Amino acid sequence: MKLLITGGAGFIGSAVVRQAIAAGHSVVNVDALTYAACLDNVAEVEASDSYHFVNADIRDRTTLDEVFSDHKPDLVMHLAAESHVDRSIDGPATFIDTNVMGTFHMLEAARTYWVNAGKPEGFRFHHISTDEVYGALGDTGQFTETTPYDPRSPYSASKASSDHLVRAWYETYGLPVLITNCSNNYGPYQFPEKLIPVVILKALAGEPIPVYGEGKNVRDWLYVEDHADALLTVAKQGKLGRTYNIGGENEAQNIEIVQSICSLLDQKRPGEKPYKDQITYVTDRPGHDLRYSIDPSRIREELGWKPSLTLQQGLNLTVQWYLDNEQWWRSLQNREGVGRRLGVKA
Ligand code: NAD
Repeated sequence: MKLLITGGAGFIGSAVVRQAIAAGHSVVNVDALTYAACLDNVAEVEASDSYHFVNADIRDRTTLDEVFSDHKPDLVMHLAAESHVDRSIDGPATFIDTNVMGTFHMLEAARTYWVNAGKPEGFRFHHISTDEVYGALGDTGQFTETTPYDPRSPYSASKASSDHLVRAWYETYGLPVLITNCSNNYGPYQFPEKLIPVVILKALAGEPIPVYGEGKNVRDWLYVEDHADALLTVAKQGKLGRTYNIGGENEAQNIEIVQSICSLLDQKRPGEKPYKDQITYVTDRPGHDLRYSIDPSRIREELGWKPSLTLQQGLNLTVQWYLDNEQWWRSLQNREGVGRRLGVKA
C-alpha cells in the first residue's frame, strides 16, 4: 500500500513509518518539523526508495492538495498534532490551529482527492487520537468506545474536536474513516518533555526528578512499537466508520513508573546513591486527570490485537535505549522549553 503519514518525524509517527517500510509499504511522510520533530527518528528508512519526506504544514491546504495528487495514497494515517498537555495550558492557540484546523484541512484535502479519483474502494483515512478525550476516571471503570466525550485540557479538547470532525466527514460525505484512541505511549525516540524520558534524563543528570502532585495519577502505558503495530492492524482490517481504543493493559501510578525507572538505572548505571533519592514532589498540573484506563475488548475481539510487552519489559527496553542513545537526546536538549517546567500558569 501507499501510505501518507502525517507527523512521521515525531515519536509515534516515526515508529509507524519504520514499521510500514519494514512491512513493504511505501510511505510519504508529511511533517512541518516543529520543535517536537526529529528526522533522526526515521534515519534508518531515509535511503529506502519506498520512503519520501515532504516538509509541509497540515494547515497549508494548497500544499496538501499537491501532496495528494503527486503521491496518490491508498491510506492516510493522520498523526501530526501538538501533543504535550503542559504546552497546551501555556499556549492553547497552536493546539486549536494544528489539531482542529489542521485536521479539517487534512479531511478536505483527502475528500477532494478521493472524490476526484472516483472514490476508490480501498481508500481509508485513519485518524489517531487519545483516550484523554474521555475525561478522567475514578478508582474504577474503563473507557470503552462509547464512553461520552468529556475532555478537560486544551490539548484533549482539541483532539476531541478533531475526532468529531472526522466522524462528521464519515456521516456527511461518506469519507471512509477510522479512528483510534490510545493511552499514554512510551518507548524509544520520545521527545524529552514527556514523563518517562524526563525521569530518565533528570536522574542521569543528578537533578531533582519532578513528580506532579502526590504521583497518584494512573495511566495505562502502551509501548510505542506495540501501538504502531496496532495502528497498522486497524488501518488494514478495521471496520469503516468505527472507533478502536488501544491500550497497553499496563496501568500504573506515576510514582510507580518513576520508582521502576530509578531501580532500572540503579542496576544499569549505578551511582553513589539510589536514584530514588532525587524524587521531588512538585505542584500538580492544573486540571490533572486522575486516572485513564482502556477497555481493549473491541480491538482484541474484532481484530485479534493485543500488546506484546509488559510494562516492566517495555521500561527495561526504554531505559536501555536512552542509555545507548545519548547523542539523540542531547541534540534535543537545547530546544525551546526542554528541561523547564511548563503548564503551571493556569
Ligand atoms: P509528537 O509531538 O512526538 O509528534 C508530532 C509530530 O507532528 C511532530 O513531528 C511535528 O513536527 C508534527 N506536526 C506538528 N504540527 C504540525 C503541523 N501543523 N503540520 C505538520 N506536522 C506537524 O507526537 P506523538 O507523541 O508522536 O503523537 C502523535 C499522535 O498521537 C498525536 O496526534 C497525538 O495526539 C496522538 N497521541 C499521542 C499519545 C502519546 O502518548 N504520545 C497518546 C495518545 C495519542
